[in-house]
Amino acid sequence: MRVPVALGIWGLLLTLAWVAVAGPFAEVTSSTEPALWWQLRQHALYLSGVWSIGMMSLVMVLSLRRPWMERPLGGMDQVYRLHKWAGIAAAVAAVLHWGAKESSGWIKDIWGTAARPARDAVLSWAVDWRGVAKDFGEWAFYALLVLVILTLWQRLLPYKPWRRVHRVMPVLYVLLAFHSLALMPLSLWQLPMGALMAVLLTLGTAAALWSLAGRIGKGGNSHKAQVHAVQLLGAEAGQDPLEVLCAMPASWKGHHPGQFVFASFDGLEGPHPFTIASAPGSCGAAPDGRALLRLVIKPLGDYTRALHAALQPGQQVRIEGPYGQFDGQGACARAQIWVAGGVGITPFLALLEARQKGVIKPENLQPAHLHYCTRNAAQDPLLARLQSLCASAQPAVTLQVHDAAQGQYLRPAHLLEHGAALDIWVCGPAGLGQVIHRQARQQRGWHVHQEAFQMR
Ligand SMILES: Cc1cc2nc3c(=O)[nH]c(=O)nc-3n(C[C@H](O)[C@H](O)[C@H](O)COP(=O)(O)OP(=O)(O)OC[C@H]3O[C@@H](n4cnc5c(N)ncnc54)[C@H](O)[C@@H]3O)c2cc1C
Repeated sequence: MRVPVALGIWGLLLTLAWVAVAGPFAEVTSSTEPALWWQLRQHALYLSGVWSIGMMSLVMVLSLRRPWMERPLGGMDQVYRLHKWAGIAAAVAAVLHWGAKESSGWIKDIWGTAARPARDAVLSWAVDWRGVAKDFGEWAFYALLVLVILTLWQRLLPYKPWRRVHRVMPVLYVLLAFHSLALMPLSLWQLPMGALMAVLLTLGTAAALWSLAGRIGKGGNSHKAQVHAVQLLGAEAGQDPLEVLCAMPASWKGHHPGQFVFASFDGLEGPHPFTIASAPGSCGAAPDGRALLRLVIKPLGDYTRALHAALQPGQQVRIEGPYGQFDGQGACARAQIWVAGGVGITPFLALLEARQKGVIKPENLQPAHLHYCTRNAAQDPLLARLQSLCASAQPAVTLQVHDAAQGQYLRPAHLLEHGAALDIWVCGPAGLGQVIHRQARQQRGWHVHQEAFQMR
């Protein structure tokens, strides 16, 4: 399911539940103008409040990144996208909610308070908490706006401090949940709205507490592995990629080629996503029988640049996953085109290993054509392995290298040569994906598959 569709269905569900109990058109019956405006304000206040807390609850549940969420949405990248867009929708609804609340001043100035409806009754225990709940809602609203601006305006705050600041979200959610619980009028607690809100507030608060307790990514999907071997693929530490073999415990149930994990080598740093650059079983096993898997890590930032000095064989590493549905297999009627840029080759290494002799292959594999974009083929530490894997792949994978050092850039024309009906699997820098998506808008037969990871 596409993210806008999922978001639309969720918004519609919240609206229908509200319509069922609030019946806005039935109630706005007053013939006098002042009463009409006061009633409209009240409906706007409650509907926007329902949208905002409903979206925020969805945000909190999605933040748990449970593997079962991947199937309906088509991958963990889509779970992240829905999480982000539901957060933005919650903030927009919160602005409407705030606007509806503030509009009382304008209505009062124009029409006076004579026709103002009486204050709605709330749950009996909440009567004495009205003031506190209003204050909580207001502070959380301002903080939510600041956080959403910091998320969208990426230049204001680099990724790492943003991630730390983002951890305050569950606290804001708990404040907003209390605000909603205490101030939602009794009329909205009727079925089905009441039941929906009760479920949402319970699930959202449980997810927020889970997150605050640092439990996200722990549990059955988290594995205590060990660094088995570390090798620099090239001559220059801090510039060339590192190959890290991890010995997986018995709790690891294997992976599909093309999937990724979150790896925590250092508790303070937290998890980083890396693709598993090996097919199941292709790295063999450690002397004690534990399955090995390979990560290829390119130094792309401060942390990954220093990893070569920090990683030692024998060291503990927490591996969370596997996640993702990047399997390089589309419809039989379309040609399968793989496009990799730089370290974006890692999922294709795993897919290629799964096509080697002696490996149990997934069924119905199709031939594929791989376009590999590299900065400098002469110094590329992964190219020789890639060529050898392509040469022996079954079904066949033909390789075309685009060497930037020789001015051989990948152009849309290269992809057009494969025909009109294509499944294009892309992994690499954001710019590469954008170029292909742009071209795909003009080609009706192109289906682009990319794990659109934007963690922010
Ligand atoms: C699904 C997926 C698979 C990936 N597979 C590989 C791979 O196989 N090999 C490889 O070398 N790189 C891979 N990456 C990229 C890798 O995760 C980042 O290069 C690395 O986390 C950068 O960390 P840093 O602190 O050194 O860099 P920074 O300079 O701090 O960050 C650079 C960018 O990396 C991203 N990033 C940083 N920290 C995290 C984090 N904890 N979680 C998510 N994103 C983060 C942010 O977009 C950030 O702007 C993958 C990324 C994703 C999303």
